[in-house]
Amino acid sequence: MEDLDFDLVVAGAGGGLVAALRAAELGSRVLVVDADEHFQRGNNTSMCTAMIPAAGTRWQRSAGVQDSPDRFIGDIERKTGGTADRRLARALAQASAPLVTWLADSQDLDLELVTDFRYPGHSADRCHTVAGRHGSRLLRHLVQRAHAHPRIELIAPMSLREVCMTDGRVSGVEIATPDGHSEQLATTGVLLATNGFGADRALVRQLIPEIADCHYHGGQFSRGDALRIGCGLGADTAYLDAYQGHAALSSRSQTLVGWATVVHGGVIVNRDGRRFAPESTGYSEFAATLAAQPGGTGWIVIDEHIETLCAAFDDFRAVAASGSLVRADNAGELAECLGVSATALEDELVAAHRSAAGQEPDRQGRTDERHPLTAPCIAIAITPALFHTQGGLVVDEHARVLAGGSPIPGLYASGGAAIGISGHGASGYLAGNGLIAALGLAFLAAEHLNSPVAA
Ligand SMILES: Cc1cc2nc3c(=O)[nH]c(=O)nc-3n(C[C@H](O)[C@H](O)[C@H](O)COP(=O)(O)OP(=O)(O)OC[C@H]3O[C@@H](n4cnc5c(N)ncnc54)[C@H](O)[C@@H]3O)c2cc1C
Repeated sequence: MEDLDFDLVVAGAGGGLVAALRAAELGSRVLVVDADEHFQRGNNTSMCTAMIPAAGTRWQRSAGVQDSPDRFIGDIERKTGGTADRRLARALAQASAPLVTWLADSQDLDLELVTDFRYPGHSADRCHTVAGRHGSRLLRHLVQRAHAHPRIELIAPMSLREVCMTDGRVSGVEIATPDGHSEQLATTGVLLATNGFGADRALVRQLIPEIADCHYHGGQFSRGDALRIGCGLGADTAYLDAYQGHAALSSRSQTLVGWATVVHGGVIVNRDGRRFAPESTGYSEFAATLAAQPGGTGWIVIDEHIETLCAAFDDFRAVAASGSLVRADNAGELAECLGVSATALEDELVAAHRSAAGQEPDRQGRTDERHPLTAPCIAIAITPALFHTQGGLVVDEHARVLAGGSPIPGLYASGGAAIGISGHGASGYLAGNGLIAALGLAFLAAEHLNSPVAA
C-alpha cells in the first residue's frame, strides 16, 4: 500500500469532484483527471440548472416543507412506474440530505431551497440550488475547493484510458494526454465519473433511436468511455435506453429556456399553432413528443408575469438577452409574428386560459394548477434535445461497479457513467435525477472507499 501513487483516481471533473473532495477530507490522496481542457465550460455539470434534489433537509424544515427519503422514493417509483433500480433509489434518497448538508457545511456552498415552482413528479419542494440556478457556478465552486485542497491534484486535459487489475482488484490506471503520451499510476480506487455516451451519435442511434435525430445538448466528451472501460473488465450494464431529454431548448440561442416557464403556466404549440400534449407530464418525455410533431419544433407561449418569475434563472435571462423572446399585444399579432394560423393560436390560447382558470377541462388533459396566460403574449422558439444518457454500468448502493452481480473491488461509477434511477426511456426522468446520481454516487463512493469494509 505504501507505494501507491494515489488512493483514488477520479476520471471526470464534473460530479466526480464531490468524490475527490469527500475522499480527501477523509484522508485519501486523490488524482482527478479530465479529458476536456475546457471541462469547466463544457461538461454537463457546468451546463446544468444546478437543481439538487434532497429529502428531509434543514432548508426544507425551515420552509415548513414535509419530506423524507421514503416520500422521495415514492416519487421515483411513480415517475418510473416502478422500473427504477430500487436499491439505488433508496441509497440516493437516503444520501441526499447528508449530501447537501455536507456541500453547505463542509464545502461552503451557498444553497437555497427552490419554493417558487415545483417540477412535475415531485410531491414536495426538494430542489436545492445555488444563486443564478446554473451549474457553472456549482462546478466553479467545486473546482476551486479541489484546487485548494492539499491532497487533491487535478489535471486537464488528461484522459483515463484503462483501469489495471491485479488479482481481481483495481491496482492502477493508464492515463494519457491528448497527444498520446501515456503514464501508468498505482492506485487501489478508481471512480468512473466520465458521464454517459450522449456524444457518441452512433451508439445513441443504436440504443436510443427515438432521440437520435434530435440536437445533442451535453458534454462533447461524454463518449461512453466508462462503458468501454467497464465492459472491458466484465462489468454489468443496464438501462442503456434511458435518457434525459428536454423539450425547452431555445432554437435561437441553444440555451435552456427552462421548464419553469411551463410549470408556471406556459403552453407549448407546434408549427400549426396547436397544442398537442399535456405539458405537465415532464420535460424529458416531452422532447420526443415535440420531435414527433410536424417539423419537430415548436414554441413555448408565456406572458410577462411568467417572464418575471423565470428571471431567477441565469439561462432564462441569457435566452431573453439573445433576442429569442417574440412579443405581441395579443394572440392574433403573435400568430402573425410566428407565421402560424391566427385562428388556431387564438383558439388554443383562449381555451388554455379557460382551463388554467378552472372554467373548463383542459383539452390536453393537463391538470396542474397554473397561472392563466394574459396578454401581452411572449413566444420562444424551442427545439427538442438529448441532454444525457441515464444508463450505464450497474452499481450497488456504495457506487461499486458490479460484474456478474458482485462488486469489482476498487472500481466505482457515478453520474452518467452508471445506471441512474430513471427506469427506461425518457419518461422516468424526474428533475434532479441527473445530479443526485452524479453527486450522490460520487459521495457514496468516497465514503465506501474510506470505510473499514473497503480495506
Ligand atoms: C442544460 C442542462 C440542464 C440540466 N439541469 C439539471 C438539473 O438542474 N438537475 C439535475 O439533476 N440534472 C441536470 N442536468 C443533468 C446533469 O447535468 C447531469 O446528469 C450531470 O451533471 C452529470 O454529471 P457527470 O459527473 O456524470 O458528468 P459531467 O458533468 O459531464 O462530467 C463528466 C466529465 O468526464 C470527462 N471525461 C469523459 N471521458 C473521460 C475520460 N476518459 N477521462 C477523463 N475524463 C473524461 C468529461 O470531459 C467531463 O468533464 C442538466 C443537463 C443539462 C444539459
